[in-house]
Amino acid sequence: MAESAPTFTVASAPGRLVMAGRIDERARLAELAETVTAGPLVVDLGDVAYINSLGVRDWVMFLRRLAERGVEVTLERCAEPMVLQMNMILDARGHARIASFVAPFACDGCGWEGGRLIVTAEVLPVVEGGGTPEAECPECQGRARFADFVDRYFLFLA
Ligand SMILES: [Zn+2]
Repeated sequence: MAESAPTFTVASAPGRLVMAGRIDERARLAELAETVTAGPLVVDLGDVAYINSLGVRDWVMFLRRLAERGVEVTLERCAEPMVLQMNMILDARGHARIASFVAPFACDGCGWEGGRLIVTAEVLPVVEGGGTPEAECPECQGRARFADFVDRYFLFLA
C-alpha cells in the first residue's frame, strides 16, 4: 500500500546521497539540494518506495538547483516509481545520468515476478537494437523476460 510506504530517509556521504522510503513534500528535497555544494554527486534511489506529485515537483527542483550550480548528477538503482516518473516527465530526469535502474521481469519457468537491477550501459545497446532485455530468474536461475513495454519503460533513457 502506497499510503503505508515508509517515511523518507536520506543518508549522505561526500559525493553521495542515499534516498529511501516515500518522497513527498515532507522530504524537503529543495533544502537537501542546498547542502550539496560541489559535484559530482551520486544519488542512490534503490529503496524509494513511493513518490507523489508534490514529491516529483520537489525532485525536479532538486535536480534544477544542482544543474544551476553545475553539479553533475548520476542516479543509481532507480526504483520503479522513479523510472515511471522519469518516463512521464522529462524534467524528472533533468541533466542526470542514469547508471542503473530497476525493471520488472517475470519467469515463465517458475512464475517468479519482480524487479531486477539493470545497468544502463548493458541494456541500452539491446534496446536500441530493437531487442528485449532478459535477466536471470533469482528463484530457478532460468531466463526471466522483461515484463513491460520496451518502447515505454526505457523511454527515459533516450
Ligand atoms: Zn524462475
